[in-house]
Amino acid sequence: MGGETGRKRLFGTNGVRGVVGEDMHPELVLRIGAALGSMRRGRIAVGRDTRTSGPALASALRAGILATGSDVVDLGVLPTPALQFIVRGGGFSGGAVVTASHNPPEYNGVKIIDTDGTEMGDAGVIRLEERIFSRRFELAPWDRVGRPVSAPDRIEEYIAAVAGHFPPGTGEGLTVVVDPGSGAGSRTTPEILTRMGCRVHTLNAIEDGTFPGRAPEPSAEGLRPLAEMVKATGAGLGMAHDGDADRTVFIDEKGRFLEENREFALIARDLCTARKGVVVAPVSTSRMVEDVAGRLGCTMDYTAVGSIYVARRMMDLLAGGTPVVMGGEGNGGIIYPDHQFCRDGAMTAAKLVSILSGSGKPLSGIAGSLPRYHMIKEKIRIGDARGLMKSLVERYEGEKPDLTDGMRLNRDDSWALVRPSGTEPLVRITVESPRKQVAADLLGEIQEAIQAYPGE
Ligand code: MG
Repeated sequence: MGGETGRKRLFGTNGVRGVVGEDMHPELVLRIGAALGSMRRGRIAVGRDTRTSGPALASALRAGILATGSDVVDLGVLPTPALQFIVRGGGFSGGAVVTASHNPPEYNGVKIIDTDGTEMGDAGVIRLEERIFSRRFELAPWDRVGRPVSAPDRIEEYIAAVAGHFPPGTGEGLTVVVDPGSGAGSRTTPEILTRMGCRVHTLNAIEDGTFPGRAPEPSAEGLRPLAEMVKATGAGLGMAHDGDADRTVFIDEKGRFLEENREFALIARDLCTARKGVVVAPVSTSRMVEDVAGRLGCTMDYTAVGSIYVARRMMDLLAGGTPVVMGGEGNGGIIYPDHQFCRDGAMTAAKLVSILSGSGKPLSGIAGSLPRYHMIKEKIRIGDARGLMKSLVERYEGEKPDLTDGMRLNRDDSWALVRPSGTEPLVRITVESPRKQVAADLLGEIQEAIQAYPGE
């Protein structure tokens, strides 16, 4: 949260987050609401995930908005992409979701949604922050304060839209186990898959902000009970969301976790078979996706790390007349341009059901034919990350590194990404190669280059 003029101070790439009762509290959220209501006059949609602190924070958000004279449509508990979809449908001057996505239960936060349903971009967020810090709110007089409307049933618009992307009966004959992790996806994904014809079992599908079954982050570790249930029920696949259900990860019929880059490549293979164009992804994405897309006549376009940058690039390319097949992040977040320009967990769940039912093969079979890569991730603590990055770029100048976000070296049989953390004094390193030893050697080379930096 270090301050610098012209840069975001409070909001990160996924909204503002903090520990409840410490740096996240109703007073801050009240100011966020008042700033948003002042900046986006009209009707603002408000929703939240299932966190215990959600009612207190959402009340503060609504109060701040109403005080400026903007109206509030309270959508209640729903996935972030559901609120984005409803806002995109029209009639709203903006939206806000009280959520901390995949963070542990003690966290909460706010994501701001623009009129078109996308997360508010950097320029808008900087203007919003200026109002929050200077307390420059346009408060309405008594006869012009906003009106609150409660609209918990509008979630149905989203459920119907996602299911409506697939022909009736797409999921027939397929048994799935859905684990929304006690989060907002409990309200949508089991219902959507049932409407698609799947036989649906659920795990952790009762909304509970204490997250008794597992943490909101759908890690392979936390999904062991899901894997067991997939095997015990003989299901074709298992799937799990993070707390606000914009991301989905999968378990195959043998109970094995499908690594998220493989999930991305699997969906890219399906979408790139159906149409040609650009696949947009952050520079941290496995080359597996580029391989798969390339073989099918599609190309990659790399962005900075953050789903909002992927979404915006997709929209810019389309506006310029370039066909865009999809976007994705390699963490279970996939963006479907025919649906909306944000990660959508229920769409990803439904898409995999349609891929499986169309293939007639088990998930392990269709994932097994993807190219194999070895990815290694490391982080190194370093005081002067900025100086280090400058020296690394100079050192590797001859290789013409990609400087979209940090430094990415692209070699024939491997690549490496070194990125400074936005919040901690460290750099993150990702290396990847089809050959394990090549990946390990490249990691060693980068580590040596970092240790040789005289700033440390
Ligand atoms: Mg999320």
